[in-house]
Amino acid sequence: MEKRNIPIGLPSMGVEEWEACKGPIESGWITQGPKVKEFETMFAKRHNVKHAFAVSNCTTALHLGLLACGVGPGDEVLVPAFTWVSTANAVKYCHATPVFVDIDINTFNIDIDKIAEKITAKTKAIIPVHLFGLCADIELIKEKFPQLKIIEDGACAAGSAIGDKPAGGMGDVGCFSFHPRKSVTTGEGGMCTTNNDEIATQIDRLRNHGASISEEQRHHGPKPYILSAFEMVGYNYRMTDIQGAIGVVQLKKLDFFIDERQKWADYYEEQLKDIEWLTTPKVPKGYKHGWQSYVTFVDESKAPMKRNDIMEYLQQNGISTRPGTHAVHMLDVYAKMYDIKPSDYPGAFAADQYSMSIPMHNKMVKEDFDYIIHFLKSVGK
Ligand SMILES: *Cc1c(COP(=O)(O)O)cnc(C)c1O
Repeated sequence: MEKRNIPIGLPSMGVEEWEACKGPIESGWITQGPKVKEFETMFAKRHNVKHAFAVSNCTTALHLGLLACGVGPGDEVLVPAFTWVSTANAVKYCHATPVFVDIDINTFNIDIDKIAEKITAKTKAIIPVHLFGLCADIELIKEKFPQLKIIEDGACAAGSAIGDKPAGGMGDVGCFSFHPRKSVTTGEGGMCTTNNDEIATQIDRLRNHGASISEEQRHHGPKPYILSAFEMVGYNYRMTDIQGAIGVVQLKKLDFFIDERQKWADYYEEQLKDIEWLTTPKVPKGYKHGWQSYVTFVDESKAPMKRNDIMEYLQQNGISTRPGTHAVHMLDVYAKMYDIKPSDYPGAFAADQYSMSIPMHNKMVKEDFDYIIHFLKSVGK
């Protein structure tokens, strides 16, 4: 078989994205402006949510979401133990304490049955993560824990849904990422969504130095020479209009990207189901998976090699793989800070050690999938 090189992820951009950059560059309005606004309006509509605010990335979106929900020093925020590190870091930015909750190994999402035991008088909020594009059951969390503010980490979940409820509008705030590893990208970028008008105002101001009106509103208003009022210490977490212009084009492709990924996920499922050491991702009934990543689980008791050796074998054959993500409670920074043992979160530990993300992106063709399937079936043979 002729060798192929298949990256784990690859953005799908083309001439339309390139053309879209011309508008802001030629007009001279390149920071947050009309294209960001257009992107936000489209994003809000697609996710059936009242407000959307573009920001510099999902980590800053999480930071603003937490602040707008009133999270501050002394508060505790529940975070799944298996997620990208920035879910926990955003809590630290607010001088609050991330409290880890184990995950359900079948979905890689927060284990709702493990939440109650982590709640104290200080628990203010929870950040359920829609990991790899599969939504966490926000409605159930709301029903069981109505006292908690819910910030959805939907970094991987643009276009994902439970029934007719898209990610981003189920909790108090939704946060999204447009990093190149996500299904739609603006290079770096993020979005904060909410149905709550007060939270919306907070997020809008906090992302722009705390200014009560944006530069665009000021420049195009009747008295452009009068500077905005400032009532809070804000940040500069703005998205540029060049990114906004790219985002508009990418967002139009989102449903096509997801449909295509769904088709390939079905193909993987069909072709890989007989490999007894490999568990493929399962989608609960009624859920729309966004397939940011296709993450399998290696059962080392049945596999001919250890997970890392399988990853090495695939790498040598040009196939990129990765662990799904990392167990944050096992990273030095958090393990030392809170004196946590790997075994304290057995689900997250197992996911960290045995999950294996295999290539899934919109530049792949059937020959790529067949090539990967061939080498997965030949492991140890
Ligand atoms: C990618 C990712 C983030 C961070 O997104 P950035 O836009 O890179 O800041 C946060 N949480 C999860 C679950 C992610 O996958």
